[in-house]
Amino acid sequence: MEELYRIKGDLHTHTVASQHAFSTVSELIEQSKLLGLEFLAVTDHGPEMTDGANRLHFLGLSRLPDEIEGIRFYKGAEVNIKNFSGRIDLDNSILKKLDFVIASYHMEAIKPGDKEEHTEGWLNVIKNKYVDCLGHMGAPKYDFDHEPVIKALKESGKILEINSNSPIARKGSEENCIDIIRLCKKYDVPVVANSDSHHRWNLGDVSYSMNLLKELEFPPERILNTSKGLIDEYVLRRKKEKL
Ligand SMILES: [Zn+2]
Ligand SMILES: [Zn+2]
Repeated sequence: MEELYRIKGDLHTHTVASQHAFSTVSELIEQSKLLGLEFLAVTDHGPEMTDGANRLHFLGLSRLPDEIEGIRFYKGAEVNIKNFSGRIDLDNSILKKLDFVIASYHMEAIKPGDKEEHTEGWLNVIKNKYVDCLGHMGAPKYDFDHEPVIKALKESGKILEINSNSPIARKGSEENCIDIIRLCKKYDVPVVANSDSHHRWNLGDVSYSMNLLKELEFPPERILNTSKGLIDEYVLRRKKEKL
């Protein structure tokens, strides 16, 4: 059982390109190898927050190899949601070159509104064909109406992440995370379990997310990053949908 709830790769990580993170792509690859992982996504913050990477970072990133030292390397971004109409902070010309785009609300990039606005924001972001995954949705400052958003994710065929950095970065997220996991189980929406690591030493540490998923008996085969095959299939399908 333990084995079934183990990730094979981390899909939400930051490098020195986000200035409040402290490892390089090479170090994250090396750490992935040490941990016996099979894939890695590097997802630095979009340019419209103080510590975000600039657009040239994302252009350059897209030119790195798809496989580095035996690790499947997904080029990603964690874009900032900038308004409740769903604007995000990278242009489509760059987004289309990336493999894994997470969209999140951050205090540094958008002032919280009310519950209806946050809900509207997520619904609009889901419609953006370049967004692959919704990030740390449990944040109490951006509370939203869970059910319609999870249903919209189901219809779109997209996924969300359960973020293991939430108890530190977004205190009070747990109750929301539990409700979101329950709804994903009810509507059969796949998830990924991510570290949101800002340095190599907690890369792949998704114990918080996995404990919640296990407790709620979320089917491990619907946690897509427990299998390289499942995540490859998802990225490939999304790539076709982005054309
Ligand atoms: Zn974030
Ligand atoms: Zn992050």
